[in-house]
Amino acid sequence: MNKVEEIKTISGVNPLKCMKCGKCSASCPSFNEMDIKPHQFVTYVINDDVEALANSKSAWKCLSCFACIERCPRDVKPGKVIDAARQILIRQRGQEGLSADEIPALLDEETPQQLLMSAFRKYRR
Ligand code: SF4
Ligand code: SF4
Repeated sequence: MNKVEEIKTISGVNPLKCMKCGKCSASCPSFNEMDIKPHQFVTYVINDDVEALANSKSAWKCLSCFACIERCPRDVKPGKVIDAARQILIRQRGQEGLSADEIPALLDEETPQQLLMSAFRKYRR
């Protein structure tokens, strides 16, 4: 299975339904942080350009708030597409991610514990 098919399988959505209306990007709180905007992200997947997504900041700037999913009139669910791409990138990285032992040294005292636990669960899948 190639990467694009993998993204479709993990996300459970069909990017080809996108009509490029841009509503997802207009509702995204991370819009300014993303070099590839949510609607463009979907187009990159359609164009089989996963390499560009891997080299972009966007997969790591998405907050998984799913505002884009609420707004999308075609049920494309760009947030899920981005989440699927992120999972593939994390799997490719294998054991080169952070280990649990490395985290305490990086902790900010004001970071809520719930955020840490949910991030740890999410990124260690
Ligand atoms: S809101 Fe949906 S249909 Fe519109 S550009 Fe975004 S993904 Fe495509
Ligand atoms: S889920 Fe990600 S891409 Fe979608 S609106 Fe939220 S931050 Fe933006």
